[in-house]
Amino acid sequence: MFAMKKVIVLLSGGMDSATLLWLCKKEFDKVYAISFDYGQKHKVELRYAQELANMASVEQHILVEVPHYRLIKGSALLEGGPEVPKEGYTQDVPATNVPMRNLVFLAIAGSFADNYQIDHIAIGVHALDTPYPDCRVEFITAMESALNAGSAFVANTKRRIHLYAPFLGHSKADIARLGKALGVPFEKTYSCYMGTEPPCGKCATCLQRQEALKAIMQA
Ligand SMILES: [Zn+2]
Repeated sequence: MFAMKKVIVLLSGGMDSATLLWLCKKEFDKVYAISFDYGQKHKVELRYAQELANMASVEQHILVEVPHYRLIKGSALLEGGPEVPKEGYTQDVPATNVPMRNLVFLAIAGSFADNYQIDHIAIGVHALDTPYPDCRVEFITAMESALNAGSAFVANTKRRIHLYAPFLGHSKADIARLGKALGVPFEKTYSCYMGTEPPCGKCATCLQRQEALKAIMQA
């Protein structure tokens, strides 16, 4: 029997994960979304994630609280951490790195995938994310192996859990172009690291967003 294709999408509320969500609506039969409250300075993004999930009519939008990041100091993205740099990426691993964030998020999404028999987990990592170790292809591949090794769903059904990362190796402009074609409401997305409304316009993610949107305007 043909198994229904299901996916759970890591949804931050930014333009990449929104485009991923719209793509998954096209590619999968059942779409779930998951968002995380982990003590991020830009917690305002969760409101955008909620609205995007509603607009995309997902089966369920799961909001998970990840409390341990409140105990971790030193990440510029977390409450109580150092200031967000007002520039693009300069160091090897940016100050805005959140230790093991995608490992934690994918493990949590994996719990739901295992329990709900969801065979795909979608994540919007892309070519400009590679300063972050847990956004690289080596990590995604290794994490997919770990999820399959640890899954009761996989053990019972002999099926596989796939990490769906279609933007790996793609630029943010590629994502913007795809999002435009899919009708993603970019004005309802939010990605600023500062967490201000309107967005600061100066942090790394604001700069990337502006460039990507400019690129599709000129096209
Ligand atoms: Zn910003």
